[in-house]
Amino acid sequence: MSETFTGSFTQQEPIPEDAIEAALAVLRHGRLHRYNVAEGEAGETALLEQEFAAQMGAKYCLAVASGGYALATSLRAVGVKPGDKVLTNAFTLAPVPGSIASVGAAPVFVEVTENLIIDLDDLAAKADQAKVLMLSHMRGHLCDMDRLMEICDAAGITVIEDCAHTMGASWNGVLSGRHGAVGCYSCQTYKHVNSGEGGLLVTDDDEIAARAIMMSGSYMLFGRHLAAPGPEVFERVKYETPNISGRMDNLRAAILRPQLRDLDTQVERWNDRYRTVEDGLRGTPGLTVVERPKQEIYVGSSIQFLLLDWSEEAVQEVVRLCAARGVELKWFGTPEPVAFTSRYDSWRYADTPRLPQSDRILAGIIDMRVPLTFSLEDCAQIARIIRAEVSAVYQSG
Ligand SMILES: *Cc1c(COP(=O)(O)O)cnc(C)c1O
Repeated sequence: MSETFTGSFTQQEPIPEDAIEAALAVLRHGRLHRYNVAEGEAGETALLEQEFAAQMGAKYCLAVASGGYALATSLRAVGVKPGDKVLTNAFTLAPVPGSIASVGAAPVFVEVTENLIIDLDDLAAKADQAKVLMLSHMRGHLCDMDRLMEICDAAGITVIEDCAHTMGASWNGVLSGRHGAVGCYSCQTYKHVNSGEGGLLVTDDDEIAARAIMMSGSYMLFGRHLAAPGPEVFERVKYETPNISGRMDNLRAAILRPQLRDLDTQVERWNDRYRTVEDGLRGTPGLTVVERPKQEIYVGSSIQFLLLDWSEEAVQEVVRLCAARGVELKWFGTPEPVAFTSRYDSWRYADTPRLPQSDRILAGIIDMRVPLTFSLEDCAQIARIIRAEVSAVYQSG
């Protein structure tokens, strides 16, 4: 009898008790709108921003309705206009090119490497095509951020970082989201903190912060923010900045504050699980483990491996056999977009030429979520199942 895994790949941990208590307090007083505060009260959203800015070592922070909203707001705040081009990763998730399209701009995709990071040579070659890079740290893989910033600084490119999978990660001692002009995070259920929906952005730039706050729907209540520039900066932007409402509310902020205090512990727990799966997969014939550079502190909330240059049928067979044993793998190479699509050619509004290097790599990427509800024993079992099925298909092919 071969073993079968019975856990759920989409089941996250419950909201911690202290976060539930904080949420109940907000529900009991009823002041859910972020600017609805009692005399002398700061409000959960303003406090969340203050705490996250401190945690990230940033001057300013804005909490918003979603990660995708944070991305689009950042693009507007750095001055992207309809018709502009914006560089971004060929390997990313739909909300990233979607945020670019939402401001009327056009994505220019940069190739992905076998390490699942943006190809810095291709970026350098395309650097004259746009003034902004929306850099997606897709699935938590950080490129050489020092070299990336050198390329972008030399070309006068403003960098916005999509840190949906790198909240808590760092490169060479610098937290993810702190290299570029703006760092954007998602607080949606499948990311590293969970408020159902939600987003955060951080920046050190006075005007980017003021414009983002105005856009998010502050009306003229920006004085109630605790991680915002002074009123003189708002004086410069307040008549010119449209309101595109996307605020966070106090209920979500209340749920997030205790979770952010636990982030480092959670990162350790994710990485214990990640390394258990990785150890179990290492050395499987036909399977390439994605090696992580020593400068990178990552958050192993998902794991990827490559079945490079395998036939479509063989990859699909592995996915099918693993699913039959309870292991849910996602193949990024699937020709028809399913669930969380991640192939640049399924975003047809962008009208992108073929990217042969990315096509080869996307066709080989297998992805698996590693929720914290899995025990280390679960992770070891999952790796045994994948190893057995990959080996079987590889040897028969
Ligand atoms: C989830 C995600 C986003 C957007 O976050 P939402 O909060 O769902 O809008 C952006 N980029 C990547 C890579 C993501 O996975």
